[in-house]
Amino acid sequence: MGDMQAKSAGKRSAYTVIIVGTGFSGVGMAIRLKQQGIQSFIILERATEIGGTWRDNTYPGAACDVQSHLYSYSFEPNPHWSRTFSPQAEIQSYMLHCVEKYQLRQHIRLGVRVETAQFDQQAGLWSVSCADGETLEGRVLVSACGALSNPVMPDIPGITSFTGKLMHTAQWDHDYALADKRVGVIGTGASAIQVVPAIAPEAKALTVYQRTAPWVIPKPDKAYRPFTKSLFRRSPVIQKIYRSYLYLLNELRAPLIIFDSFLSKILEGVGRGYIKKSIRDSVLREKVTPTFKVGCKRILLTNDWYATLNRSNVDLVTEGIERITAEGIVTRDGKVQPLDVIIAATGFDVPTAAAPFEIIGADGDSLNHRWRDGAEALRGTTVAGFPNLFIMMGPNTGSGSTSMIYYIESQIAYAVQAIKLLQDRQLKYLDVIGACQDLFNVGIARKMQKMVWSSGCKSWYQASNGKITTLWPGFSWQFRLATRRFDEKEYRLVAEENNNPTEGARKR
Ligand code: NAP
Repeated sequence: MGDMQAKSAGKRSAYTVIIVGTGFSGVGMAIRLKQQGIQSFIILERATEIGGTWRDNTYPGAACDVQSHLYSYSFEPNPHWSRTFSPQAEIQSYMLHCVEKYQLRQHIRLGVRVETAQFDQQAGLWSVSCADGETLEGRVLVSACGALSNPVMPDIPGITSFTGKLMHTAQWDHDYALADKRVGVIGTGASAIQVVPAIAPEAKALTVYQRTAPWVIPKPDKAYRPFTKSLFRRSPVIQKIYRSYLYLLNELRAPLIIFDSFLSKILEGVGRGYIKKSIRDSVLREKVTPTFKVGCKRILLTNDWYATLNRSNVDLVTEGIERITAEGIVTRDGKVQPLDVIIAATGFDVPTAAAPFEIIGADGDSLNHRWRDGAEALRGTTVAGFPNLFIMMGPNTGSGSTSMIYYIESQIAYAVQAIKLLQDRQLKYLDVIGACQDLFNVGIARKMQKMVWSSGCKSWYQASNGKITTLWPGFSWQFRLATRRFDEKEYRLVAEENNNPTEGARKR
């Protein structure tokens, strides 16, 4: 493959890599490709600015619940983080900084929505069709669309009849003033526990609709002093040590969070103690006390959730929503709550995010069809029958306890090795051997039984059949080990010229 354009069979030319998405995965992949001397890539982004989750989630109070010195690229430390857990705007600025510093703008096309990608086995090329009618070709396709990119509105009867303002946390309308409004918030997940405390002081009345009480623990958040920031600026080594310390801290805490074991009692104690300390009213205490095992759904870190529920203008409703009318929300006890605005803090369509557009593999099967009973891949990244496709944040690559960026960087390093192999050996494509993928997933399923996410609660971690296809069942260093080396023996390698399997494949 050439530098800017990958030559392939006949007269066709193509990019070496087409990346879809400009969040942490897409941008990180692009940087690493450049560092490896691969310049022939394009990044397609459906939005009008770069950034994924952290561009879209601008709701008041949006911040990361993983420490910023760890929730950033290892190769691009940022000494300027203002606090332990940075707000959304700082993270988006960091992403913009990375794009400028590594001169990625020339590779990015904004406002381009990918509709389908189809693999041409004869040519060994992905054909990517966009909504504007354009078709691009690439030797490699990297899907970097993120798991939390498609906001989902709750499927509540009558929701479309509401005549007030209706918005999702991930599609915040900053022109709409909440001051003196009667606000209803649906949901008590990670987004709700950030937005509710941020808007409660200005709302006239705030009604929070809770379906399931989450486990909440205090957030050890603080602003970095100017001295600390200047230390990080002047001494990258100290900053690196600090990052390693945060990494170790999270890994050491992981057993309390991810395993279904007696250790979770420790966190339950912290959660219950926090409720006792924060809430006097016994009815409210009962309402906020979770009834599922800690860790089964994401543990929420906040210092102001319970304090906000104590406010006189905030009401926590647990009766369950029956329907929505033109005026407001009706709960199962028959009570009607008139509202000016309903905020859906109801999360994302995670299963669809697995294959965010139609991806058609070598045998004409679509990835969504292949994954109808739950997504599966080899090492969370590649799928048999879908050659030269790398899925960032693919099946079972999510973190229950530490930074997603660590997982993303592991996947990027794995994919870049494969792309180099394609180039160096002049391969047409590499395709996972089905038996290797199956074996890997048998291991995933076995380990999953020990994880707390399988302990009976219902969450977006699961596919509709209950199979957990999102999170990695183990420590993050185990994922790093699993993706450390691209093992060509797990793949069928097909050479450019004669379409014959190469040495690596014949050995099997
Ligand atoms: P979420 O965790 O899926 O929470 C959605 C909430 O809406 C849940 O409380 C859910 O109740 C409720 N809900 C959904 N449909 C409902 C309905 N029809 N009626 C009543 N309640 C309904 O979504 P999220 O809070 O947006 O968070 C999604 C993910 O984004 C998180 O898990 C996290 O990974 C990420 N996130 C991260 C941060 C961060 O700080 N890094 C911040 C925000 C979000 P049930 O629990 O009963 O289903």
